[in-house]
Amino acid sequence: MISFEKFCANCELLRERVRSAAEKCGRNYKDISILPVTKTHPAEAAQFAERCGFKAVGENRVQEALEKMPLLSGNLEWELIGHLQSNKAKAAVGAFSRIQSVDSEKLLLKIDSAARELSKKMRVLIEVNAGADPAKFGIDIESAPRLLEFALRLENVSVEGLMTVAPLGGGLDAASRCFANLRNLRDKLEADFSLRLPELSMGMSHDLERAVAEGASVIRVGTFLFGERDYAADKQSI
Ligand SMILES: *Cc1c(COP(=O)(O)O)cnc(C)c1O
Repeated sequence: MISFEKFCANCELLRERVRSAAEKCGRNYKDISILPVTKTHPAEAAQFAERCGFKAVGENRVQEALEKMPLLSGNLEWELIGHLQSNKAKAAVGAFSRIQSVDSEKLLLKIDSAARELSKKMRVLIEVNAGADPAKFGIDIESAPRLLEFALRLENVSVEGLMTVAPLGGGLDAASRCFANLRNLRDKLEADFSLRLPELSMGMSHDLERAVAEGASVIRVGTFLFGERDYAADKQSI
């Protein structure tokens, strides 16, 4: 695990990357938020993020996050960005402030009923496989409108936008196409359903400039902030 000083320096470099990417496409960097991704790193990583003023961190696995949460202040929010099995939906609803990886009706139903039991409205993003990568989770673009329609009928779920992960090994141009697909889908859904879906969660350490250029509102960054993950642990988390 890196030192706190190193983490702070990485934060500064990251903010510089975001500012410069935003400037290049005429966006205000303040419209892009950073979600530090702490998966596979010790709870200390989340503590660092909190000390640096981040309100939330991202985790891939429910169990891993649950183990770290008691070691944090309680003010830090946690967002689930990894695939969620419906048998873990209840635990996820109780622990996370937002679930970014919603991609099926079955999962939505589980989330909705767990949220009702907890008298909570669960904030979610719909994960879209916008790069049509067979190895990726997420609903395909064509099926997204139906899933959104389904989600909108649920009382204890609030859809704030869309999330995607660019195709693995597809290169930066494939990432750009994937991000543009997500933005176009969002624009179409907003028009067709007459609602606002402000959140576009896209972009990671290596492709965040492309995501900013295509309209990302939140980027999810692990490696650039915390260093390389342990490979074996990371394989498990995907
Ligand atoms: C791990 C992960 C990230 C962060 O990736 P880095 O390349 O380490 O920045 C972002 N989003 C998801 C869904 C992830 O699983």
